[in-house]
Amino acid sequence: MKRLTATAARTSRAVFRFEPRDRVAAGNQLLLCGIVAVLFVGGMTAGTLARPGLFSLSALGVGVGGIAALAVPWTRLPAGWVAAVPILDVFAIAGMRLSDPPGGLGLLWAFPAMWLASLGRAGLIVSCTLIPGLYWVVLLMGPGPAFTPATLLLPLVIVAISAAGYGSARRFAAQRDLLDAQAARLAFARAAAVRQEQLVSEVLDTVDFGVVRLSVGGDIVYENDAVGRFSNAIPGLHAASVRTVLLAEDGRTPMDAFDHPLARVRRGETFEDVVVWSTDADGRRSALSFTARRLIDHRGADSGAVVVARDVTAEREALRARDDLVASVSHELRTPLTSVLGYLELALDEEGLSERARRYLDTALGSGERLLAIVADILSASRSSRNSVESTVSARETDVVEIVRASAVSLTPLAADRVIKLSVTGADRATAFADPGRLRQVVDNLLGNAIKFNRDGGSVHLDVDTDGHRTVITVTDTGIGIAEEDRERVFERFFRASDDVGGNGLGLAISHDIVTAHEGSLTVTSEPGVGSTFRVELPVHAPEEVTQ
Ligand code: ADP
Repeated sequence: MKRLTATAARTSRAVFRFEPRDRVAAGNQLLLCGIVAVLFVGGMTAGTLARPGLFSLSALGVGVGGIAALAVPWTRLPAGWVAAVPILDVFAIAGMRLSDPPGGLGLLWAFPAMWLASLGRAGLIVSCTLIPGLYWVVLLMGPGPAFTPATLLLPLVIVAISAAGYGSARRFAAQRDLLDAQAARLAFARAAAVRQEQLVSEVLDTVDFGVVRLSVGGDIVYENDAVGRFSNAIPGLHAASVRTVLLAEDGRTPMDAFDHPLARVRRGETFEDVVVWSTDADGRRSALSFTARRLIDHRGADSGAVVVARDVTAEREALRARDDLVASVSHELRTPLTSVLGYLELALDEEGLSERARRYLDTALGSGERLLAIVADILSASRSSRNSVESTVSARETDVVEIVRASAVSLTPLAADRVIKLSVTGADRATAFADPGRLRQVVDNLLGNAIKFNRDGGSVHLDVDTDGHRTVITVTDTGIGIAEEDRERVFERFFRASDDVGGNGLGLAISHDIVTAHEGSLTVTSEPGVGSTFRVELPVHAPEEVTQ
C-alpha cells in the first residue's frame, strides 16, 4: 500500500505539478517582443523617434530577452532566475521611454509588472519600486517638466496592475494546489481499487467453487478459474461447450437447457442450491449445485447477477448410498422382526405361562413393536422406498377435533411426568380431507416433540380452527425453541438441532411428507428460549371437489 501511495503522488506531480515555466516565459516575452517590433518598424518608417539609436538599443534588449526566454531551460533553473527577463525588459522600456518621451511607451511596463508580480512577493516588491523609480529617473533625465500630478498616474497604474497580477497568481496557485491534492487522492483511490480488484480475483481463483458474474444483459463479465473445470456441465457458459446430458435434482428427469440455472439467471430469477446432474461423453456423472443472486448498485438499480456453482457429486452420491443402505437394511429387518413378533404373540397365547414369563414376553412384544414402527418410519422416509408416504395415504372426510383430543389424551401421562400442562382449544367440530391414521401420526409427532423439547413445568397448547375450506391445527409449546438457521432444516430427514434429547430426526420429515401428500402445509415459527408453534393446514374437501 505504501509503495502505491508514493507512486500515485509521483504520477500526479508529473502530470499536474509540472510548471511549464519555459512556456510562460516565452509567452510573456514574445507578446512584448511583437509589440516592440511593431513600434520599432512604425517609428523608423515614420521617422518620429527623437533618439532612434537609443530606441533601437532598447528594442534590441527586449529582443535579447525574447531569445533568452526561448533558449534558456527555465524549468531546470531555480525559480527566481526567470525574473532576469522582465527586469531586463523594465530597463529596456525605460530606454525606449527616454528615446521618445511623448510616445506613451511607459505603458509597456504593464507587461514586466504583471510578470514580476506573478512570480511572488519579491517580484511584486521589485515591480512596485523599480518601475516607478526608473520612471521618475527617466522624467528627470527628459526634457519636459519633471513632476506634475499626472506623473503619479503611471506609477499608480503599475502598482495596481502588479497587485492585481500578484492576487490572481496567488488564487491560481491555490486552485492548482487544490487540484493537485484532489488528483493525488483520486490516483490513490484508483490504485487502491485496482489492488482490491486484483485481490478479490486472486482469492476467487483459489477457491474450488465456480463464480460467474453476469451483466444486466446476461453477458458473462467475470468467471474464476474453477469455472473452467465445470464449463462442460454448464450449457451456454462457453460457445464451444461440449453437449452433455442434463438431469434434474433427482438424477433421473431430463432437463432442458432452457431450465438450466444459468438460463434462469439470465431471465432474472434468483434461487438457492439448485442441483443439476450432467453426464459427459465418457458417461461420467457429476452434480453441480447453483445459487444465484441479483446485484444492486449504489443507486439501487439492478447491476446484473452472480452465480456460484459447487461440485456436490461426492456429497449427493454419499446421501444416495446412505438412503439405499438405510432402505435395504430396514427392509431386511422387517421380515425377521415380524416373525419374532408373531412368535411372541403365539407364546403369549400359551396356557400355563408363569406371571413373570408373561411379563417378560409382554415387554419383549412392546419393544419389538416399537422397533417395527421405527423401521417403518425409516422406510417411508427413505426416498428410494416404494412405500413412500404419497402411496400410503388414503384420504377421506376426517374429524380433526377427535384426532387432536385423542392424541392429547394418549400423551397426557408423558406430559404429567414432567409437570407439563396440556390444553386443547378451538372449534368443536372441524373436518379435513385426510387419512385419519396418518393425521394422528402427525399430531402425535408434533405433540411428542412439544413435550420432549419443553422445560419441566411448561405448557403445550393445541388449537383447531376451520373456515370451511381449510382446517388449521397449531401446537404451541414453551420449550427451548429453534434457532433461526435450523428452522427450515428441521423438516429434513435425519436433522436434529439438539443432540441432548433422544430421537432419530425423522419425525418432522415424515410429518411434512404426510401433510404435503394431503395438499396441505406444515410450517414453524419459533423463538429460541421462548417456545415454538407448529402449524398444520389441511384442505377440508378433496382437491377435485374444490375445482368443480
Ligand atoms: P427427533 O426424532 O429428533 O425429534 P424430529 O424430526 O421430530 O426428530 O425433529 C427434528 C429436530 O427438530 C429435533 O431434533 C429438534 O432439535 C427440533 N425440534 C422439533 N420439534 C421441536 C420443538 N417443539 N421445540 C424445539 N425443537 C424442536
